[in-house]
Amino acid sequence: MKKLTAEWDNPLFTQVQTQFEAAAQKLSLDDNIFYRLRVPDKALMVSVPFRNDDGSIRVVPGYRVQHNDTLGPYKGGLRYHPNVNLGEVSALAMLMTWKCALVNLPLGGAKGGIQIDPSLLSRGELQRMTRRYTAEIVNFIGPEVDIPAPDMGTNEQVMAWVMDTYSQLHGYAIPEIVTGKPVIIGGSLGRKEATGRGVVYCIMEAIKTLNINLDHKTRVVIQGFGNVGSAAAKKMIKSGTKVIAVSDVSGGIYNADGLDYGNMRAYIEKNRTLEGYPEADAIKNEELLCLECEVLIPAATEDTITADIARKLKCRILAEAANGPTSLEADVIIQDRGDIYVIPDVLANAGGVIVSYFEWVQDLQNLFWKEKEINHRLWEIISGAFQTVHEFSIDQKIDMRMGALMLGIQKVSQAMLTRGFYPG
Ligand code: GLU
Repeated sequence: MKKLTAEWDNPLFTQVQTQFEAAAQKLSLDDNIFYRLRVPDKALMVSVPFRNDDGSIRVVPGYRVQHNDTLGPYKGGLRYHPNVNLGEVSALAMLMTWKCALVNLPLGGAKGGIQIDPSLLSRGELQRMTRRYTAEIVNFIGPEVDIPAPDMGTNEQVMAWVMDTYSQLHGYAIPEIVTGKPVIIGGSLGRKEATGRGVVYCIMEAIKTLNINLDHKTRVVIQGFGNVGSAAAKKMIKSGTKVIAVSDVSGGIYNADGLDYGNMRAYIEKNRTLEGYPEADAIKNEELLCLECEVLIPAATEDTITADIARKLKCRILAEAANGPTSLEADVIIQDRGDIYVIPDVLANAGGVIVSYFEWVQDLQNLFWKEKEINHRLWEIISGAFQTVHEFSIDQKIDMRMGALMLGIQKVSQAMLTRGFYPG
């Protein structure tokens, strides 16, 4: 097989490529389909110049990668992080294709990003950069073509600026160009918490399947306290379990009796991070990941569960709220150990894009749903997908990740074969 060239050279791209190749082999995927799905359909690199507060102009690299749109418009988040590059964004776009297909959304896979640390920008700089990036990709995206959403380092406000810039350039309001935007401009109720909520719905299914008691003795550890990690923490505590440790960029905190969600939120409001939080002890990232617990939720970034950590894990369920948190080597170690139940990223964190899909449908119809209905529909889709992956994995004697990838890839492949090849 021909090796891919240097522009894709990125650890996450290698990881998703290797996973794709293994799943494709198991599926005996058609050769032509294999070579088409191995790389994105289209990738756009842009230079994003924007004015700093001191009047000077800075230029940063931006990307939008469209992996596959066989099932519907390209869909996926927009990431602001210093590690963003073509390989990483392409890998994340590919994961979006499998994720959307797995949970039966009529959407394809995409991802975008800017190589920058947004915490170092003022609000004005963040806004100017976002608007210029949107202008640079304006002809590449569209409500029927490619619909961005939040990802790491972006939020509802950033989506509002994308929506406004896109609308200004077209001369009228086009809310359906992005999802994950504020409710006041056409966002959906429940979208902000959707990814964390979906993670918890999957965990509840796993807890039932594994016959684990769900009570105050059920210990949960969460790495990352951003949009996804904090929503998951809130809901896990509400469902009766105790969250014994969480971490953010400043480090981790640990309290064996359980942490209080409201107090942590209030502390962050005042101090920006959890550093120095009084009702817990400080704990290092590696120690946190290796704590004895029933549920471990990596909700930060890729490659946090390394081979070394995989050997020391003491959790029963590993729910991948982040995209690609488990390295390839770690994955092999976890499979060999056989005592950890993995809910893979494409399933565990699909709640975000599921409610993004609801948001897009509501915008297109100009008809908005109640939050209860949104959460119920999310639960139906994600718990159904969980059961399908669980049963398929048992039936095929494979792990949950391979099961989820095979189901997603198979669906895209069948759709491609059914549509046929253009121009023939
Ligand atoms: N960024 C999220 C993800 O990785 C959500 C994407 C979306 O809603 O389009 O799944």
